[in-house]
Amino acid sequence: MVHQARKRFGQNFLQDHNIIYNILANIHAQAGEHWVEIGPGLGAITEPLLQENIILDVVELDRDLVSFLAEKFRQWENFTLHSGDALNFDFSALVKKDEKLRIIGNLPYNISTPLLFHLLDNAYCIEDMHFMLQKEVVDRICADPGSKKYGRLSVMMQYFCATEKVFDVPPESFDPVPKVMSAIVKLTPHEQPPVEIDDIKLLNKVVTTAFSQRRKTIRNSLKKLVTEAQLIEMNIDPTLRAEALSLAEFALISHHIVIEE
Ligand code: SAM
Repeated sequence: MVHQARKRFGQNFLQDHNIIYNILANIHAQAGEHWVEIGPGLGAITEPLLQENIILDVVELDRDLVSFLAEKFRQWENFTLHSGDALNFDFSALVKKDEKLRIIGNLPYNISTPLLFHLLDNAYCIEDMHFMLQKEVVDRICADPGSKKYGRLSVMMQYFCATEKVFDVPPESFDPVPKVMSAIVKLTPHEQPPVEIDDIKLLNKVVTTAFSQRRKTIRNSLKKLVTEAQLIEMNIDPTLRAEALSLAEFALISHHIVIEE
């Protein structure tokens, strides 16, 4: 089919067969597993995935592509097509018995961050997720404290998941060719959170506030939430900047704050 790629749906279709092969080689799909693909597009990853004898649900927003996919994969009994927006999709409703979902997607870049957080609301029913994202976003997700890329996305994603960059993908691998490099990231939700927190909203508040003024010391950037004396009591140096703090230190601070609703 001739499909005019739509910018508003973030459509850059994978063309490079080596990259598709490498993705399949890295995800280790096993027969019988339950997978969900977000944004299957023209089916570049869908077809080789189906050949692995997995159970595959796909969620696609573009109605023209939904019609195309329905026709293209109509003979596959292990294939279920959902027409709709992945941002509102109830992934937990797909789960049968004790299974966990494995998720994959070459994600539309414009919605990747909200989509990641939507998926993390259902982290308990997800085994792992492999996503193609802008390389810059993958680097931020995986960044360690002390790095310039370390920020809110790193801390919040690392609270929920083990993060691992798999490999970079150059722009020429897609049609149309995007302006930026891409990369594959593997996210594996933790069985147990790596640190204790009272409420995710409190952690989010501390992290967002600290990084909104990342060049200031936390004594200044966090002064509305916590006093210098409290930071010292927690054994956290108030002259540090947000980028020097570990997830454990952000969690510790979050125990000492309240949010006024
Ligand atoms: N998986 C295909 C590939 O690798 O060639 C297409 C990837 S393209 C970057 C992103 C796909 O996500 C497109 O098919 C687009 O229509 C779809 N999409 C965009 N926004 C979406 C949304 N909110 N929910 C579900 N699919 C979406």
